[in-house]
Amino acid sequence: MTENRKKIGKVYLIGAGPGDPDLITVKGKKLLGRAEVVIYDYLASSKLLKYVPVGAKRIYAGKRGGVKHTHTQDEINAMLIDHALAGATVVRLKGGDPFIFGRGGEELEELIEAGVPFEVVPGVTSATAAATYAGVPITHRAYTSSVAFVTGHEDPSRADSRIAWDKLATGVGTLVFYMGIKNLENICDNLIKNGRDPATPVVVVRWASTPKQKSVSAPLKDIAAVVRRHGLRPPALVVVGDVVKLRDNINWYEKRPLFGRRVLVTRTREQASSLVELLRDQGADCLEGSTISLVAPENWDSLDRAIDGISDFDWLVFTSINAITFFFRRLAERNLDARHLAGAKIAVVGTATAEELRRHGINADLIPDEFTGDGLATALLKNDLKGKKILLPRAEKAREILPERLVGAGAGVDVVPVYRNVRPDSYDKVRDALQAGEIDMVTFTSSSTVKNFVAMLGGDKKYDIADLIKDVRVACIGPITSRTARELGLKVEVEPDEYTIPAMVAAIVDFYGKEVTRVLGEVTAR
Ligand code: SAH
Repeated sequence: MTENRKKIGKVYLIGAGPGDPDLITVKGKKLLGRAEVVIYDYLASSKLLKYVPVGAKRIYAGKRGGVKHTHTQDEINAMLIDHALAGATVVRLKGGDPFIFGRGGEELEELIEAGVPFEVVPGVTSATAAATYAGVPITHRAYTSSVAFVTGHEDPSRADSRIAWDKLATGVGTLVFYMGIKNLENICDNLIKNGRDPATPVVVVRWASTPKQKSVSAPLKDIAAVVRRHGLRPPALVVVGDVVKLRDNINWYEKRPLFGRRVLVTRTREQASSLVELLRDQGADCLEGSTISLVAPENWDSLDRAIDGISDFDWLVFTSINAITFFFRRLAERNLDARHLAGAKIAVVGTATAEELRRHGINADLIPDEFTGDGLATALLKNDLKGKKILLPRAEKAREILPERLVGAGAGVDVVPVYRNVRPDSYDKVRDALQAGEIDMVTFTSSSTVKNFVAMLGGDKKYDIADLIKDVRVACIGPITSRTARELGLKVEVEPDEYTIPAMVAAIVDFYGKEVTRVLGEVTAR
């Protein structure tokens, strides 16, 4: 018997975690990778969409307190059912945990009625994340043995409130209010009226577990006024209880050296991630505004010729990770691999390029002590280069000093372009952030990033760059980049001794550490 039964899809209701995209569960991430349709909320980090297959349909469901919903709850339910009944694997991605003030239950009831199969993956709820990231253990044997999660959405002054304020106020140790900012005055009044000590410590945490996190604390009787004074808006959580005292000691997240510093990264998108990750590890809030896109050269003729004649070369020299990437990409396109390069010695400019080369299965024969083109020339010149042939695959436009010094030492140098730097079209996002005073520091990792930054910011309208960046500190990776920056009128305040990304991040940490000491010093001296 042939059965022509229609395939029914499935809905996975997944908790996205509180904000930091790394706080999703392994299972949630795995299922995102299988999604054909994803319907996600305002509070589910859009960064998680990178795990979704390229061809999948992405639907933003909106949902933001006070703001008009992009889709009504009925529309969302209908979309879930329609896509699943059409056979799709549907992920419904919700902020925090789907069953904690997330209407997860309501959506599932609809699915059950429509006969749609589903699974649920819990998530880290924002209450525990906010407490944790504000340095508050939500329970502690010495302070409390009970916790309540409460919605602050309900107006507590209403007589028909479904919350038993009289029992809640003194019956539970730690109280966490979701959606409590609008009604904060009433919530605090009600707790005090019902017997909670007005001196109970409270912390309010906005955008918990993200680089935008902001928290303020005060005793219960004052917290509403303090929150208003700081202009703290939703999304935020209110944690009430004696455990909040522990924050003075444990506040680990906000004490990271670059917490609250907003850093602009101008590297190419391909390369930005390592710098961004290291800066974020130190607590910085990074804006990626790449000034360079890398593209293949107009044609591969000269590289193909060099590859065909590779046995003529004594040295192969790489001055950037990009050169390695594009070189090996072309090699692979020609169905060749590292073995093709066996005859030549290979030199690289520094440790990062050496590591990149290792990824292609090759140990560099030479890494200079100083990681610049000049340092590389000096190191190469220690070998007898007279009559030697050197292949230098690199950017279309680059400094001439390295090939010139090698030629000066009697070598024959073939400079072969393997990629081009082009400028992305728009820099409006960065200009807006600078105009709004939202950037504390800008980082440059090469002269071209500086040149493009200045050119792109200026734009057609010739914006006053000096004015745009008057309060922005400038960090450069090394002396050549710094020189370019100074020539273009920028004041460079951070430059590491070693020209690597980790050293640059360490120098930025050190700079702000000293600044804090300096500011504190000035305050004490006054
Ligand atoms: N299901 C979600 C809660 C949804 S209700 C969860 O489990 O976390 C929305 C409320 O959650 C917001 O108004 C705010 O009070 C809180 N919230 C969610 N994410 C937050 C975050 N990163 N920081 C602070 N509060 C957050």
